[in-house]
Amino acid sequence: MTTTLTDEQQLLLDSVKEFVWSEVAPHVAQRDRDSQCERSDFAPAFELGLHLLELPEEYGGAGIDYRTGAMLFEDLGKVDAGYAITLVSTFVAFRNVLIAGTPEQARLFADTIADGGLGCFAISEPGAGSDAAAIRTTAVRDGDDYVLNGQKCWITNGGIADIYLISAKTDPSAGAHGISTFLVEADREGLSHGRHEDKMGLRTSNTWTSRSTTSGCPRITSWAPRARASASPYPGSTSHGPSWRRSRWG
Ligand SMILES: Cc1cc2nc3c(=O)[nH]c(=O)nc-3n(C[C@H](O)[C@H](O)[C@H](O)COP(=O)(O)OP(=O)(O)OC[C@H]3O[C@@H](n4cnc5c(N)ncnc54)[C@H](O)[C@@H]3O)c2cc1C
Repeated sequence: MTTTLTDEQQLLLDSVKEFVWSEVAPHVAQRDRDSQCERSDFAPAFELGLHLLELPEEYGGAGIDYRTGAMLFEDLGKVDAGYAITLVSTFVAFRNVLIAGTPEQARLFADTIADGGLGCFAISEPGAGSDAAAIRTTAVRDGDDYVLNGQKCWITNGGIADIYLISAKTDPSAGAHGISTFLVEADREGLSHGRHEDKMGLRTSNTWTSRSTTSGCPRITSWAPRARASASPYPGSTSHGPSWRRSRWG
């Protein structure tokens, strides 16, 4: 199939290709050996604005569509999949806020990463992977906000993100229906981190365990739509929230 690119898409693609080969490729072998994924590795990407590509213009981003994003991150991922997933995970987190949160919450997320920052989404737990509805982290109401308590694992960007989306149970007796997601800034007291996983692949992506006993967390939305609550395994799980469905089905 022949793909015709617009001038703007071609320009973006050329810039990303040049960036990848000049800034990422020279370091990827060593970073892979060392399982290295530090915030400082992304300084050149922040400078170019790659972390804002998918954010809508009204939130200070470039507002590129998914197809253009896929082309750009395909080129980045060819050289360093870990580098690509670091940026993409930020967008996945942001999409959830955009779709299900308030404009103020989306603004908070966008402003937090604007000058060079990353986001992450934290669903998985030691006892809840494919079966995301089995999470045990709790969210207890405290005035207008919530106190989160629990442990998350395998969180992409978990050790370097500036803002977290954390899923927790507001009603443990309600199964998948009792899950909501919360917006938590990285510097909020009570959020702590374990270790960076020494993985077989994607070694240049930051994958961490995090623990939260965090108060004052605003709720974004309930995760699981009632109509499709018998969740299928990741990544198709309905309990992984609205952004997955939108990104897959347009
Ligand atoms: C590199 C990496 C990055 C990640 N990043 C994130 C992140 O950013 N945020 C986040 O929340 N999570 C993240 N995860 C976690 C990821 O979502 C989980 O690994 C995934 O949901 C699978 O869970 P699990 O590893 O516990 O495997 P399990 O759920 O234990 O599954 C093990 C195997 O059993 C199979 N299986 C499970 N249930 C069934 C069933 N009912 N029927 C048949 N087969 C079944 C699975 O297909 C799999 O092959 C990440 C994981 C990795 C490896």
